[in-house]
Amino acid sequence: MATNVNYPPEWISGAIQARIRQRANYTCEICGLTFDPATNTAREFTDEDGRPLVGHVHHLDHFPPNCADDNLMFLCQTCHIRLHGQGWKPGDEMPLSWGNEPPPWVLRRGLPYRPNPIVASLQDSARYATRKADRAQFLIGLIESQGWISGAVDPLAEMRALLKAALAEYETRLDERGRTAEIPLREQAAQWAADRGFVDRAEALSRSGLTPVEFAAALEQGLIVPEPCPFEQSFIPRYFDPAKLCLDAAAHRALLLTREQAAAYLGVPLAVFERRRREAGIRHAQGRPPGASGPWERLYRKVDVDKLKR
Ligand SMILES: [Zn+2]
Ligand SMILES: [Zn+2]
Repeated sequence: MATNVNYPPEWISGAIQARIRQRANYTCEICGLTFDPATNTAREFTDEDGRPLVGHVHHLDHFPPNCADDNLMFLCQTCHIRLHGQGWKPGDEMPLSWGNEPPPWVLRRGLPYRPNPIVASLQDSARYATRKADRAQFLIGLIESQGWISGAVDPLAEMRALLKAALAEYETRLDERGRTAEIPLREQAAQWAADRGFVDRAEALSRSGLTPVEFAAALEQGLIVPEPCPFEQSFIPRYFDPAKLCLDAAAHRALLLTREQAAAYLGVPLAVFERRRREAGIRHAQGRPPGASGPWERLYRKVDVDKLKR
């Protein structure tokens, strides 16, 4: 593409280009577009003006006098223009649009390349945003603020490729971290509980002597409080101090149930519970259970289950 340089005579005669075209089997070494050997025009596709695409021979080191075979490659005119737009030579930092992934043709030819530090830092920073939309916004903002997209080569495609590479890298690392982080955290929490003699919910339920309904009600009303765990996460079980599970008789009597819980406790339909409750003359709860808070008076009724069991 450069001018005012000393091309060897075999280049000027076209002999070198013919040899490189043949070596590439008349196929663009980047995109795989195939060419008619006789006319050196693409079998498919035309440029914007409807002219057939032409095949070019490119100097990898951008130094036309160097017509050594390993410095030459056959390209369609689109790939050639794009490559010059990127300005990449073997041994250079990869252009932004590669997202630090050398394309197959670079790997195929075993060409040396160096990572692009801007892409690397972009990929590092993107890891700290958690929501996909935030990450995309972050990346776009960064690209715009740095003025990274420039030149004649389709800026949207460049940006898409960059975003795609950065996001894919981010997702992969996030997945890896998620897979490895979850298990140790759970184990740490279990160890923390074991060190203090705390038990998980199933064990707490069995030691409390309560039914699951009573246990749930007692939890809800603050009669039983799980130990605050430094590893509080939705996937970590809640732990209890067994010493605090021995509800005394008074606390047990103060146990308040919702109507639904009381019906479930007795194993009868809600309507039957309501009828029995009316017959037994059971009224609003008196007193406030320890630890209860909020508008519990309106929601709960003290239920003397022994009375109801008759
Ligand atoms: Zn070139
Ligand atoms: Zn091509």
